[in-house]
Amino acid sequence: MDGKTRKTRMNLIPDYITKMRPQDILMPVAAGLCCKPGGFHIDPTRPVERAVITHGHSDHARPGHGAVLATQETLDMMRLRYGDNFAGSTQAIAYGEELKLGDVTIKFHPAGHVLGSAQIAVSCRDTCIVASGDYKDAPDPTCAPFEAVPCDVFITEATFGLPVFRHGAAADQIKKLLASVALFPERAHLVGAYSLGKAQRVIALLRDAGYDAPIYLHGAMEKITRYYESRGVALGELRLVKGMKKADLAGTITLAPPSATSDVWTRRFPDPVTAFASGWMRVRARARQGGIELPLVISDHADWDGLTATIDATGAGEVWVTHGQEDALVHWCTAKGLAARPLDLVGYGDEDAIDAVAAGEDAEA
Ligand SMILES: [Zn+2]
Repeated sequence: MDGKTRKTRMNLIPDYITKMRPQDILMPVAAGLCCKPGGFHIDPTRPVERAVITHGHSDHARPGHGAVLATQETLDMMRLRYGDNFAGSTQAIAYGEELKLGDVTIKFHPAGHVLGSAQIAVSCRDTCIVASGDYKDAPDPTCAPFEAVPCDVFITEATFGLPVFRHGAAADQIKKLLASVALFPERAHLVGAYSLGKAQRVIALLRDAGYDAPIYLHGAMEKITRYYESRGVALGELRLVKGMKKADLAGTITLAPPSATSDVWTRRFPDPVTAFASGWMRVRARARQGGIELPLVISDHADWDGLTATIDATGAGEVWVTHGQEDALVHWCTAKGLAARPLDLVGYGDEDAIDAVAAGEDAEA
């Protein structure tokens, strides 16, 4: 048989042998996204035998799994939060590294959400599905930039999946903060920011804007912030608020978990200006409700333009939309001729949500 004949024969192999139905590769189940042919779950919400985890936020990275595969940073963050025995065994995987698991191949790509965050490409025969976890396409000096990964099916979050959500440039929000600090030298500025990712990003953005005074930290942020520094993220001089005299905090900036900015802890600051760095700050009513004097629209999630541009960039013909405001994004995809559906996954939230103010710093879920 010459080459030509062989090629013709190959073409006679029906599609269903090389192509798999996406839902046979990844399927939403009670514990999260299940990959049966690979024998694992992605970001499981219940303890499972083998977990593949996108990033360190506690609604995605939970303790108690048999084996965990994630980036080194995500594993380290889980260890910091849950202790050494957070899983039976762990395996680190780098961005761009390929691994065969059962009948599928997986590959991690940067998600631009927080340090170590990853999208997970799952390929089986000729079909590739990308589970992006949480992501943002906006620049962030504290983590590897988001990478659009060509795929057949793209699983996208939809935290800010409405056209009203346009975050704008984070640098402009930092300017607003610095203008307020200059305007009120006798007051302290207290910036509520989620302690994994957002706080470090705000600090790095302040440094990028030329602010080189010491930045103060609530004690709950120290461990993770020091961890960022240990991974080479330069954050300048950081000090703990603890032990500082009230008068000495005039004119300073302090980063604190959102819950702390509304409790008695704030009494140690001179006439504090309360700020909150979150995508939800686009909604004025939410800022008012939370008693936020200085709303800063800084998000670690893609906004409407980011979500739609990313879907375009992946070239995916099918889109599964999860955690957040699914309907508008599903509608946008359908209008473009893409197959799209909401994915009924429960147990994922948004670390940015202003409800965290009331619920406590670790109730990000
Ligand atoms: Zn997250």
